[in-house]
Amino acid sequence: MISKKLIGEFQTILGKGNVMDEEVDRLNYSYDAAVLDPVLPAAVVRPEDSEQLGKVIALCNDNGVPVTVRGAGSNLSGGTIPQEDGVVVLTGGMNKILEINAEDMYARVQAGVVTAQLAAKVAEKGLFYPPDPGSQAVSTIAGNVAENAGGLRGLKYGVTKDYVMGLDFFNAAGELVKTGSQTVKCVTGYNLAGLMTASEGTLGIFNEITLKLVPPPQASKAMMAIYDSVEAATETVAAIIAAKIVPCTLEFMDNFTIRTVEDYAGAGLPVDAKALLLIEVDGHPAQVEEEAAKIVEIAEKIGARKIKVAKDAAEKAKIWEARRVALSALAKLKPTLVLEDATVPRSKIPAMVSGMDRIAEKHGVTIGTFGHAGDGNLHPTILTDRRDEKAWHNVELAVEEIFDVALGLGGTLSGEHGIGIAKAGFMAREVGEPSIAFSRMMKRAVDPNNILNPGKIIV
Ligand SMILES: Cc1cc2nc3c(=O)[nH]c(=O)nc-3n(C[C@H](O)[C@H](O)[C@H](O)COP(=O)(O)OP(=O)(O)OC[C@H]3O[C@@H](n4cnc5c(N)ncnc54)[C@H](O)[C@@H]3O)c2cc1C
Repeated sequence: MISKKLIGEFQTILGKGNVMDEEVDRLNYSYDAAVLDPVLPAAVVRPEDSEQLGKVIALCNDNGVPVTVRGAGSNLSGGTIPQEDGVVVLTGGMNKILEINAEDMYARVQAGVVTAQLAAKVAEKGLFYPPDPGSQAVSTIAGNVAENAGGLRGLKYGVTKDYVMGLDFFNAAGELVKTGSQTVKCVTGYNLAGLMTASEGTLGIFNEITLKLVPPPQASKAMMAIYDSVEAATETVAAIIAAKIVPCTLEFMDNFTIRTVEDYAGAGLPVDAKALLLIEVDGHPAQVEEEAAKIVEIAEKIGARKIKVAKDAAEKAKIWEARRVALSALAKLKPTLVLEDATVPRSKIPAMVSGMDRIAEKHGVTIGTFGHAGDGNLHPTILTDRRDEKAWHNVELAVEEIFDVALGLGGTLSGEHGIGIAKAGFMAREVGEPSIAFSRMMKRAVDPNNILNPGKIIV
């Protein structure tokens, strides 16, 4: 609990309407999109500008109150599950696009701007902001930066970190720290913006963020390759890259996911196929034609049963609709869905996919696998019911083994969803104790009272 006096001080800074300490309000912010136990925070506050945000953080620091900052709460690793004696800081009131500079190709935004809204505004100016997490209709730019979010275009265009030119953030004492610049090049001092990216609210609270924009592709072509064997599909992924073609999107779907999507959306998918690849190339029109033809040739040679190349925008939209609904379709099957994102080097995708089948059989769990095959970033998705203790125990064993399979293949615990609470206990397996000790030292130095999202990433 926090004192009435402190609640009063928050109200003085923010106004009464932006300070919530009723149980019903606290309940709303006790959980996020990860499958983890909720924790009721002591209060929820909503600053509407930078000055208020800085004052709130300074007040929390002076009183030793933990701060969990929250955008849309769509993260999948427990990054916004608060402390029970802590405060949740909402960024929804700080959602202004401050500048879209077409000449120097950058955008400057407040922390709480919604990703898809920025992308749409940027497109209106004839420019392109590529990072496109599946949650972009709700996720915020600060949440994207704090998780280093990826998406479907990661293979060609990279992920959020590749677009962060600079940001300013409040340190634990509530002072505004500036990093980076609006220039293409900037090596003034440590790369603090790089350090803050993927820091999950544990090192500072972002205020404004400057993002790189790029010219949009002139043309694009989407296709769906249908396979009677998973091996042929994954071999095609490797062969496309080996042919020095970098599609903007290269997605995989296993048979379980194909059938589930078809049941859900009637998207015209071949339910007897063992695997699908959904592929898009973009760029100059001539290059797009050439690369699409080459991909068809590669896929046929490796043994695709059929390749459907979208003839127009409607057919293209249909292909991507099938991928977009995959998670919703799987989510309808069982009460609990655990979406993993352990990632492997691209060449290890076949071993990762067969590893998932082995794990599903060994632990008696249902796993649908789909995701960003081109990045080695698949999403094995376990369907279960968390209220069933035995089933949940098996899921925990399966998840742990997914991590071990990925690490054994030279991969990583998380390609894009972050560590949060969910994977903090597994960090040492990947990076080793000295790396964790180094991170802990850094955290102590910048946040001596441990108020910034404690319990996330390093424990
Ligand atoms: C259906 C669905 C699809 C998804 N698809 C993808 C995908 O394709 N790719 C992908 O990478 N992720 C995906 N995600 C995960 C999630 O949407 C991303 O992690 C996203 O970046 C979170 O944004 P948010 O605004 O919801 O952040 P939140 O969940 O609110 O917060 C995430 C983290 O950022 C921190 N944070 C928030 N605001 C600030 C701030 N101002 N300063 C410092 N730290 C801050 C929080 O403390 C927390 O640690 C998906 C999630 C769902 C539910």
